[in-house]
Amino acid sequence: MAQALKCGGVEAMETQQENSMSLGIDPHKIDPQLLQKMEYDALVWSSLHGLLVGDTNSQSSGRVPGVGLVHAPFSLLPMPFPENHWKQACQIAPIFNELVDRVSLDGKFLQDSLSRTKKVDAFTSRLLEIHSKMLDANKKEEIRLGLHRSDYMLDEQTKLLLQIELNTISSSFPGLSSLVSELHRSLLHQYKQHLALNPERIPQNNSVTQFAEALSKAWSEYNNPRAVVMVVVQTEERNMKTLSEIDALGELLPDGTLVVDGEAVAVVYFRAGYAPSDYPSESEWRARLLMEQSSAIKCPSIAYHLAGTKKIQQELAKPNVLERFLENKDDIAKVRKCFAGLWSLEDSNIVKDAIEKPGLYVMKPQREGGGNNIYGDDVRETLRRMEKEGSDEDAAYILMQRIFPTLSPAVLMRQGISRKDHVISELGVYAAYLRNKTKVIMNEECGYLMRTKVSSSNEGGVAAGFAVLDSIYLV
Ligand code: ADP
Ligand code: MG
Ligand code: MG
Repeated sequence: MAQALKCGGVEAMETQQENSMSLGIDPHKIDPQLLQKMEYDALVWSSLHGLLVGDTNSQSSGRVPGVGLVHAPFSLLPMPFPENHWKQACQIAPIFNELVDRVSLDGKFLQDSLSRTKKVDAFTSRLLEIHSKMLDANKKEEIRLGLHRSDYMLDEQTKLLLQIELNTISSSFPGLSSLVSELHRSLLHQYKQHLALNPERIPQNNSVTQFAEALSKAWSEYNNPRAVVMVVVQTEERNMKTLSEIDALGELLPDGTLVVDGEAVAVVYFRAGYAPSDYPSESEWRARLLMEQSSAIKCPSIAYHLAGTKKIQQELAKPNVLERFLENKDDIAKVRKCFAGLWSLEDSNIVKDAIEKPGLYVMKPQREGGGNNIYGDDVRETLRRMEKEGSDEDAAYILMQRIFPTLSPAVLMRQGISRKDHVISELGVYAAYLRNKTKVIMNEECGYLMRTKVSSSNEGGVAAGFAVLDSIYLV
């Protein structure tokens, strides 16, 4: 019997496809009647298994639980993905975890690297202010928890798996991505006669249970059976605390315990707090500081949060910087291999080149959540304007080599309606890291997220409406 594919573990089965980037069937050429039936079954499956999100068309959505839901946008069939690159992404996940941890301990590196950014980016400056207070107070985070997602695109020309970014805060979709893999396995199984695709070639994806396990292990390390795990959310979500509620209801006990609404908090898991709009007033910043000052395990701590900024990604890509944080030469080589071109805007040669060939670059500010980057002619215009004004605004951005993945045909489902399109995909690999002083309790890859978007769209956010959820079919 065929064994389930698990990254890094079980031996892979023989590769069946000849073309390295094809499913063997063209989703655009599936018989229309069959396609309609598959779409229908996929929508039923989504409703039955909770592959759902809040429907912004419904007024009560997000206010009344169980009301105003719609299936999450998804691709009808999994995306072919080369097995060697999949393995590569899984194998480097624990190395990136270790790297984030090491970087988080180097307060001076974080502060120095972001010192120019701080002058022009008010949001990053506030985060650095909290970080700096912690450094002054010599605050130590003995138990550290990271729930990360490193995102990649496969560059068509060079066949290199290149990192887009590393998320250290609110890494999204561990829940829904597990479900999409199940949906695809179920469809491949049900339509085996017609599609002739092997459901076992979709890797098992347990991101949601593995992240839950990491949270629970962190809770155990905190070692107070009465303490809770607090999930920090944006407004209009239930049974959790917003930053302003934490400001109103939270206090610090003399021993450092964080108490919110009468409950001691063991672990703070941030599903908010990564965007300026999460801090509409001073209240939210007070809450963030209060939590940081406490002994609660923060996922992420302020240092982990800063270690995930684009500026730090760019600094780590400079020659001899990785060597400051990692000892193992093989590990360093593996990490470096997936770095795309990354530059500071202080590099005038690169700025000149980007003005000449803006299509080959992406300009990124220190923001999360999608929709913030600059592409194409806007790169040229922005760079020219900044040059003319001669301000320090350039410090808010980094420049990155634009990656061009292979185009594939796909059928995308959104709001119950299908659409045939040509798409590109971005693979995210989740990873959890838990450490108590010198003891590493957990450092592992935790499943994946595939996001697929129409090739004409620059950004890849699912929540932002640019992309759909997907899974991978190893070829
Ligand atoms: P965010 O933290 O907002 O998600 P990202 O760096 O992931 O920021 O950029 C958002 C999206 O922009 C990505 O999901 C991807 O679709 C696109 N993108 C980012 N960097 C590149 C790049 N170097 N080449 C091509 N597309 C990119
Ligand atoms: Mg991000
Ligand atoms: Mg991203």
